[in-house]
Amino acid sequence: MRIDLHTHSSTSDGTDTPEQLVEQAVRARLDVVALTDHDTFDGLDAAVATGERVGVQVVRGLELSCTHGGSSVHLLGYGADPADPELAREMARVRDGRTGRLTGVLAKLDALGVGVSEEAVMRFVGDSPSVGRPHIADALVEAGHVHDRTEAFDRYLYDGGPAHVHRYAIDLAHGIDLVRGAGGVAVIAHPWGRGREHVLPAELLAVLAAEHHLDGLEVEHQDHDRATRHRLRVLARQLDLLATGSSDYHGTGKVDHDLGVNTTDPSVFAEISDRMAARVR
Ligand code: AMP
Ligand code: ZN
Ligand code: FE
Ligand code: FE
Repeated sequence: MRIDLHTHSSTSDGTDTPEQLVEQAVRARLDVVALTDHDTFDGLDAAVATGERVGVQVVRGLELSCTHGGSSVHLLGYGADPADPELAREMARVRDGRTGRLTGVLAKLDALGVGVSEEAVMRFVGDSPSVGRPHIADALVEAGHVHDRTEAFDRYLYDGGPAHVHRYAIDLAHGIDLVRGAGGVAVIAHPWGRGREHVLPAELLAVLAAEHHLDGLEVEHQDHDRATRHRLRVLARQLDLLATGSSDYHGTGKVDHDLGVNTTDPSVFAEISDRMAARVR
């Protein structure tokens, strides 16, 4: 059984529609795929309907934009109720902040001599209910200022970079409470990726597990090298946290993140499924 629990569609900053993504999951020989768009549930119904048609189990997920110690941290949620008012309110606040920062980012890019228009960015936003940095990156590529999304981030858009503008994100511990309060299973995405180990040290993860009932850590992820995966796997076992593996697929928006490039063990997915069922309200 092949299980991939972290993917993005055009409902956030991936390039496949939810339908196309689930069809690609068949080609990648996946049995289970979670759609985890950034701060929105908008793509889930279409993904689930396609899954029923093509014989792939689609897990209703999300990736919530959180923050700890001033750094951005992503939290995956599985089976959270889209109608939960507190979670919905916070997700809307994140989306508003993401879109609201666009004017500021465009002004900074202009001053750096690599201007793009709001209309150019909006052409890449598609069905996404908010404007992410990857959409701005796409406009920079189109204008010929950079070759790809990665170069756009590395030169201009990275956290603290020359065209970066701060936006609202949810305190991590509160984010875990929100996902669990909405009946969801909470897993920290790529916790030690991109040199972030100092943001989420083992002691903090232990506190989040003990006091906020964090469910798991995404261990197998392309942002983690072999040694990091090993240390995270050991830590997850020590803290009695579930260890997941996923692609973080973004279609053509992210290279080296093909569907199924990392997968989650069937026994771990069975436990996630049990917890989702037990928490349905
Ligand atoms: P935003 O939520 O608009 O701040 O943008 C976050 C998105 O940008 C996520 O999908 C990340 O995958 C992507 N992202 C963040 N940092 C980088 C980076 N250094 N290179 C490429 N993509 C990135
Ligand atoms: Zn993304
Ligand atoms: Fe992420
Ligand atoms: Fe992601």
